[in-house]
Amino acid sequence: MNVELALYSAQAKTSLGRVHPEPSEPTNSGRNPFQRDRDRILHCAAFRRLEYKTQVFLNHEGDDFRTRLTHSLEVAQIGRAIARRLQLNEDLVEAISLAHDLGHTPFGHAGQDALNACMHQHDGFEHNLQSLWVVDELEERYPTFNGLNLSYETREGILKHVSRKNIRIHQNWLGALADRFENNLQPSLEAQLANIADEVAYSNHDIDDGIRSGLLEMDSLNDTELWNSRRHIVLKLYPNLEGRRLRHEVIRHMLHVLIDDLVNHSKLLIAQYHPKSIDDVRHLPPLISFSDGMQHQVVELKSFLFKNLYRHPRVVDVTHEAATQINFMFSFFLENPREIPAHFRVQDINHPHRRIAHYIAGMTDRFARSEFMRFAT
Ligand code: MG
Repeated sequence: MNVELALYSAQAKTSLGRVHPEPSEPTNSGRNPFQRDRDRILHCAAFRRLEYKTQVFLNHEGDDFRTRLTHSLEVAQIGRAIARRLQLNEDLVEAISLAHDLGHTPFGHAGQDALNACMHQHDGFEHNLQSLWVVDELEERYPTFNGLNLSYETREGILKHVSRKNIRIHQNWLGALADRFENNLQPSLEAQLANIADEVAYSNHDIDDGIRSGLLEMDSLNDTELWNSRRHIVLKLYPNLEGRRLRHEVIRHMLHVLIDDLVNHSKLLIAQYHPKSIDDVRHLPPLISFSDGMQHQVVELKSFLFKNLYRHPRVVDVTHEAATQINFMFSFFLENPREIPAHFRVQDINHPHRRIAHYIAGMTDRFARSEFMRFAT
């Protein structure tokens, strides 16, 4: 169902367009620029590889755990549901959500930290910038340009953060996308929303996966206000509920209360600042936001997960192994560049370290493991 877009939403008719001019879509195809972006992302190789990349639990640990792919789909679902209620551009939120993790390395955050350490002397590795690299340069699908040639607004949403150093180094490439960080401007509300939908998605699905894996005790979550308050409500409705049905029902209630709070508080802020265009939005404070009370509960839950799940000895052990594999491959490909596939050797020809970072970042967990086994043994 199409909801009428608000004045403050991102709209096709005011889009800042694509880097490489393209004929507009034939009117009979019925797609707007952001739907075309979404379709390009969905059809690209980096998107398919998300299926075999770790979210928190390594891909081979169990079939029910989230991967980067199912995580991205959940972000898109949550983002679109909220976009409809705020009369934002659902297509743009979907495109940004599906693309937001394209630059993630194999083996989750451990892989990213390892690659960043390998690139320490060579401008580092940032996953947000890498996602933009994928859609701007690394995908090879079109006859006359690199990348997917996405709309400005989609790229703006993908680059949710970048270091000052990389802004300087990549000024020509990033252009206006980087100016907003220098000038303290905000991205579109759709980009702000995709960012928070990411947080809502992982905070909830990591609880689900954490309990399923046995690394989190369900009762230990009672120390957090968000979980505990929803658990009380659920147990009032279903006093005998336990196990996975209790877990799922509490998470469902948490999602509802988070989304309701986000929608209501953002509506208040929008009414208060009254933006009349996306340009107004860029010059105002962030308008997609939880209320203070809910923000407090979200922070508490995230620090609980950080302490008890992301830094759990079993997660850390496995990720150490991942770092070893990435470190080995980085040195190996530096010494043996001909082991990098020929089509990749043309990328960043003058920056051998960056080229290897691109190559390793694009690997899935299983491909990285098999390359490691092939060369290290
Ligand atoms: Mg994410």
